[in-house]
Amino acid sequence: MYDYLIVGCGFSGSVLAEQLATAGNKILIIDERPHIAGNAFDFYNEDGILIHKYGPHIFHTNSSDIFDYLSKFTEWRYYEHEVLASIDGSLVPIPINLDTINSLFGLNLSSSEVTDFLASKAEKRNPVLTSEDVVMNAVGKELYEKFFRGYTRKQWALDPSELDASVTARVPTRTNRDPRYFIDTFQAMPKHGYTAMFEKMLSHPNIHIMLQTKYEDIKDSIGFSKLIYTGPIDRFYQYEFGKLPYRSVNFKFETLQKEEFQCTGTVNYPNSNAFTRITEFKKITGQTHPQTTIVYEFPTAEGDPYYPIPRPENQDLYKKYKDRAALDEGKVYFTGRLGTYRYYNMDQVVGQSLTLAKKIIGE
Ligand code: FAD
Ligand code: UDP
Repeated sequence: MYDYLIVGCGFSGSVLAEQLATAGNKILIIDERPHIAGNAFDFYNEDGILIHKYGPHIFHTNSSDIFDYLSKFTEWRYYEHEVLASIDGSLVPIPINLDTINSLFGLNLSSSEVTDFLASKAEKRNPVLTSEDVVMNAVGKELYEKFFRGYTRKQWALDPSELDASVTARVPTRTNRDPRYFIDTFQAMPKHGYTAMFEKMLSHPNIHIMLQTKYEDIKDSIGFSKLIYTGPIDRFYQYEFGKLPYRSVNFKFETLQKEEFQCTGTVNYPNSNAFTRITEFKKITGQTHPQTTIVYEFPTAEGDPYYPIPRPENQDLYKKYKDRAALDEGKVYFTGRLGTYRYYNMDQVVGQSLTLAKKIIGE
């Protein structure tokens, strides 16, 4: 008999398992995949290069509480991610910054001049509701079309005008020369990889792990008092109100017989090719190796549910599931990117689970 059955060994389930086990509860945590760590799973491929099975994962947060918490389970390699975009045949920094503008337009503007330059290009939108509004409002049509429209249509199979503002708002516009993709206070990669960090997090005598185990197959044969579910909430309720839309990605890995492939961790391809970006793992993990592995990301409708799709009609459908879940309150808790249908980064999921653990332990 377990106090908690936790479905999903990703960040959201594993943090709860660790917190509840430490508080003295007996935990069974399961995952239908053959490994722990959810979408953050990494491993050494046959060439001996550390790769991320579900696409590149770079940890960043502004929360010292979240960083300190994870630091109990890993040492870090400090790493600040930089991304270039392939535009009209040249590679320029994204987020758009002073260097991007000077390079694309053959100018030599200062920071204050680029502010005026962008203001002259911007098409003011009020209110700012969609992902198109965000970018048009900041940089205008030409840059919107070069950097955002094509990428977004590939990634989501929707026009930016059909997506919430929050999607492209993840990528700011800068008038300085800061080339970093994120500006969070803490930016780092787990020194020995994510999977090693999860192994430590889950290594507690009160935690029992079962892999390759679907919730649906064991729910009636395992004794437990309460359930924590981090899988898709629509799947839990057998799609009672219809399917929540998710976007998936096909990852194509290639190991090359050379030490380096590209000059930065990720290169985005907004308007050319069927893939959105190429990431070179050694750049982000810091591994030295005579070969190098890269991954291409091809967005697709079919496959594992990776991205909830932020737009009003999907939020309305999610609300139906959320209201349904309220009837199970106290028995079943939903959390995580899929359990709460939110486009959350790893740190946000950790924060969400730490808050839920506190609430549950308080009860
Ligand atoms: P998941 O990691 O998806 O874990 C849920 C687990 O539940 C899965 O392992 C699944 O197999 C299991 N499961 C579901 N249903 C069942 C069931 N019925 N029975 C048994 N098991 C079940 N975040 C960042 O902070 N930085 C990044 O650079 C970054 N890059 C990303 C790149 C890509 C391509 C993607 C898709 C995401 C990226 N993220 C990134 C987001 C990050 O992956 C998520 O925030 C995080 O993995 C969410 O953790 P989770 O535990 O909620 O979900
Ligand atoms: N985006 C874009 N062009 C880029 C980078 C991002 O249009 O070069 C848009 C796109 O809609 C993308 C969103 O901004 O899905 C968020 O980008 P982010 O890099 O945060 O996506 P993630 O890493 O979560 O896939």
